[in-house]
Amino acid sequence: MAISKTSSTRSMATSLVRKAGVRMTQQRRAVLETILTSHDHPTAAMIFERTKAHMPGISLATVYNCLETMAETGIINHLNFDNGPSRFCPNLEPHVHLLDDTSNRVLDVQLKPGLRPEDVFELPEGTCVTRMDACLHGNIPV
Ligand SMILES: [Zn+2]
Repeated sequence: MAISKTSSTRSMATSLVRKAGVRMTQQRRAVLETILTSHDHPTAAMIFERTKAHMPGISLATVYNCLETMAETGIINHLNFDNGPSRFCPNLEPHVHLLDDTSNRVLDVQLKPGLRPEDVFELPEGTCVTRMDACLHGNIPV
C-alpha cells in the first residue's frame, strides 16, 4: 500500500512539473512530494523539516527557491493569511480557505454543488469570475 501511494505521488509530481514546463530536479521532486502529501497548508519551514527527513542535505534556501518556482508556474498555490508566514496548498481545484481563529488550522472549502460564485455574491452585472481566492475566518469544531 505504502509503495503504491508513494509511486502515485511521484507520478503526480512529475506530471505537474512537466505540464508547467519546469525542469524536474531531485530537490523540486522532494519538495513537491512533501506538499502533495501534506493536507495542512504547511509553511516553508514545515515543508523544509518534512523534506529534510527524506533528503537530509536539502537547505532551507533551496526549499524556498523550489516553492517560489512552483508557485510562479501555478503548480501550487502560495497563500498569505494576515501577518502569518506564507503557506502552500497543492489543491488546484477552485476553492477558498477557511482559517480557524484559534488554531490557525486551514481547510479547503468548495462552493456547494451546483452553485457558482455569481450565485453567492452580489457582483456587478456582467462580471465573469475567473478564479476564486478568498479566506473565511471562523471557529472550526475540533
Ligand atoms: Zn487550499
